[in-house]
Order: sequence, then structure tokens, then C-alpha cells
Amino acid sequence: MSSYAWIGLGNMGGPMTANLVSAGHMVKGFDLNEQACAAAAQGGVQIAGSIAEAMEGVEAVFTMLPKGQHVRAVYEGEAGIWAHATDQMLLIDSSTVDIETSRYIHEGSVQRGLNFVDAPVSGGISGAAAGTLAFMLGGEEKLMVRATGYIAPMSGRTIVAGAASMGIAAKICNNMMLFIDLMASAEGSQLAEKLGLDPKVFWEIASVSSGRSWAQQTWYPVPDVIDTAAANNNFEATFRTDLARKDVGLALDAGQSTGVRLPAATLAKDHFDELIAQGLGDRDCSLIVKNLLPDESVRGWDPEKAS
Ligand code: NAD
Repeated sequence: MSSYAWIGLGNMGGPMTANLVSAGHMVKGFDLNEQACAAAAQGGVQIAGSIAEAMEGVEAVFTMLPKGQHVRAVYEGEAGIWAHATDQMLLIDSSTVDIETSRYIHEGSVQRGLNFVDAPVSGGISGAAAGTLAFMLGGEEKLMVRATGYIAPMSGRTIVAGAASMGIAAKICNNMMLFIDLMASAEGSQLAEKLGLDPKVFWEIASVSSGRSWAQQTWYPVPDVIDTAAANNNFEATFRTDLARKDVGLALDAGQSTGVRLPAATLAKDHFDELIAQGLGDRDCSLIVKNLLPDESVRGWDPEKAS
């Protein structure tokens, strides 16, 4: 049995900690949100009143927080992780953050003689619940075996991406590719409809042809073609538009700092911004199909029925 502190018990942290508890581990959790704490307690997490209390005597300290600013906030200050960590603990951040924050936490940890690994995830809320998330790890080689062990009960696949911040670099590039692929599926699906193709037949053709992608296989934005599409469910989020905007924004920031032009990612950002400006940031990101049709007559989308 291993012992964990877990900061951030939201949509991802909740089910991830439940899997740790199910695998027989001890988890002490902290979150600012009472509802998140109550749900995690139901999954067997011991709720702590502070970061310090959660960290007392544990082997691994995970953070699963919305953005870089939240990760910095829980690491810094007298009440933060750095102030209470020992060199026996392994600190692991699984949040999707910007490269600068990841480097800052790595450097700050090394300066204090602490052990830190960046370990973002792919697989969404369903992967978190099923314990099949893909983890991508960045940090010192000597920490990887230990990190992989703590991650195992939550993971379908763990891949060491490289040195410090390479996990987050892989995550940012991967998600940028996903949202560019989503644009291809959105445009292809709507044009195919207007040209008179049967959507299921066209989807099958693309699936065995060069239009195939994960987005096309999983998020194809037309109702009644594939079971996993949000289009079957009035675009209720399987991946929220505002989270997609955050991820593609991280890629654009990284493009700017490295001097790489990312015109397709910029288009994806514009699509998401358009939906967010209409108050649709909480709908599924595949609702970008709505930006393609002048009359907004998107099959599967009924704004009246959107909760
Ligand atoms: P969420 O908003 O559901 O959960 C985040 C939790 O952090 C909330 O419960 C919030 O109260 C808590 N929190 C914020 N600031 C805090 C603080 N200072 N101290 C303690 N708790 C604090 O978000 P989520 O969907 O669980 O995502 C978490 C991270 O995982 C994000 O970086 C996201 O990009 C990434 N991610 C999400 C998905 C997904 O499908 N939801 C998939 C892959 C990666």
C-alpha cells in the first residue's frame, strides 16, 4: 500500500483518487470546493483541511488543478506544497499547464532539493473513471520507475516523454493535433451532408481512407453515426469548448515562444472563441460545426433544449 496526498478533487481528480483507493492505497485529499470533497469522500478519500495536513507522512503528492496559476498557487507560500514537502516525497503534477509553469515548478523543486515529475494525462473523464488514462512523464530519469508505480492504478499506458517538462510538451502538441483534426471532421462532415452523402456511408468511407483520425472516429459531429459523438446528445460536453480553448491557447503560447507558426491551431482557437462569445463554452467542442453553416441549421443542435 502506498500513501498519497491529492490536491484538486474535480472531474478528473475525483475518479482518479477513487481508483487509487479501490487498488488499496491511502489517499488524503484537499480541495477548495466542498462538493468535490464530499464526492471524493464517498470514493474513500480522507479529506484534509489543508495542504499541509494532506501531505503529512505521505509518499506521493499529486496535483490535478485547472490551470498553471492554480498549480503555482498551491506550490508557493507558507501553506503550500514546497513548504511542507520532504526529499522523501515524490511530487507529481498531472494538470495541463503552460510550459513556463511546468519549468518553474521543476526548477523551484530542484532548488529546494525536492523531487518533481510532470505527468499530464490524456483520456478524459471516462478514462479517469476507467483507470485507463495515458500518462506522459517528464523529469529526471531516476524518478521515473517510482512515478510509474504511483501512477499505475490510474493508467492504461504510461510513457516517459523525456526530461523536465517533456510530459507537458507532449500533451500540448498532442491536443493541438486533436483540435486541428476536429476541424477537418467538422468541415468534411458538413460538406458531405450538403453534397447529399449519407453520413454513415461517408463516415465508413473516411474510416478506411485517408480522412481517418481519432477525432473522426470518436467525435464525428453528426448525430446517429457513432455512439461516442456529442452530436447524439445535443452537444452536451464530452470535452468542453472552454477546456479545448485553454489547451489550444497553451500550444499557441508555446508556438510564440519557440518561433513556430501555427496557423491551423490559430483557426481552432478562433472557432472556440466564437462559441465562447455566444455563451457556449460549456458545450462540447465539436459544436464548432455551428460556425460553418450560414443558417446555423446544424443537425443535432437544438439551442432551446440546451440546459
Ligand atoms: P475541475 O475544474 O473539474 O477540477 C479542478 C479542481 O481543482 C476543482 O475541484 C477546484 O475546486 C480545485 N482547485 C482549484 N484551485 C484549488 C486550490 N488552490 N486548492 C485546492 N483545490 C483547488 O477540472 P478537471 O476537469 O478535473 O481538470 C483538471 C486538469 O486536468 C486540468 O488541467 C485539465 O486541463 C486536465 N485534463 C482534463 C481532462 C478532462 O476531460 N476534464 C482531460 C485531460 C486533462
